[in-house]
Amino acid sequence: MNKQTTMLALLLAAASFTAGCTSETGSKPSDQTATQPPSQNNSHKNTQAQAQPDPLTDERTKAALATTVMKNNSGVQEVTNMNDVLVVVNKQRNLQSTFEPSDLVEPNIPFSFKEKSPRKMMRKEAATALEELFAQAKAENIDLLGQSAYRPYSMQKSVFARLTKKYGSEEKANAVSAYPGQSEHQTGLAIDITSKRMGNTLEQTFGDTPEGKWLAANAPKYGFIIRYPKGKESITGYAYEPWHIRYVGKTVAQEITEKGITLEEYLSQ
Ligand SMILES: [Zn+2]
Repeated sequence: MNKQTTMLALLLAAASFTAGCTSETGSKPSDQTATQPPSQNNSHKNTQAQAQPDPLTDERTKAALATTVMKNNSGVQEVTNMNDVLVVVNKQRNLQSTFEPSDLVEPNIPFSFKEKSPRKMMRKEAATALEELFAQAKAENIDLLGQSAYRPYSMQKSVFARLTKKYGSEEKANAVSAYPGQSEHQTGLAIDITSKRMGNTLEQTFGDTPEGKWLAANAPKYGFIIRYPKGKESITGYAYEPWHIRYVGKTVAQEITEKGITLEEYLSQ
C-alpha cells in the first residue's frame, strides 16, 4: 500500500508539473523577456514554441500514452486528454462517465436506420471528414452506410448490461462489447460502417467485400484508420473489425496506415 501511495503521489506531482508547463506560459514574464531576441515582442508566446515548431511532433508528444492517463480515486485509469483528436481509449484507458464531447453534429451521410439518434452524431472535425469520405465513395459507386457513431456512456452501460445478462458474465460480454467508459464510440471520433450488401450487419466478411476494401484503402486519405486491424489483437485488445473507423487526422492516419501499426504503437514510439 505504501508503495502504491508513493507512486500515486509521484504521478500527481508529474501531472501537475506537465499542466503547469502548458497552461502557465505567462507566469514568468521577466524570464521570457530575457531569453527572447530583442526584436520580438510577443511576450505571450513561449520561447520553445518559437524555436522551429513542428506541429505534428508536438501533437504526438502531447498525446503520448504514458503521459495521458491517471488513476482516479477508485484506482481506475482515466485518460486526461479526452478532447484530443489523438486520444486513446481502450481496455486500460477509461473515459469518465460524465464525458461528452461538446461539438457533436450529425454528418450528412446515409445511415442504415431512419430515426434520430445520438448514434448519428460525431465530433465536428470527424463529421466533416466523414462527409468527404462518403462523397468520394458515392462518386465511385461504392455503397456505404453509417451504422453507429457516438455512443453516450449511459447507452454503452445499458448495452453492456443487456449483453452480460445474455451471455451470463461480464467477461463474456466484454468479448463482444466494451465496458462502459472503455468504448471509443464515447469519444465521438469513431463510427461503424456497413453496406446494403452486408444487410446492415457488422461482420468480419465486410473486409473482403468491394466496400470494405475500398474503405480500408481510402479512409486514411480522409483522416480515418481501421482501428482494430488483423493481427494486432494483443495490442488493441479487440478482434479485427474492418467496419470500425476512427478519426485521427489525415497526416497521422496516412502514417499509421503506411507503417501498418496501431494508434497505440504510434503513440508509444
Ligand atoms: Zn465500433
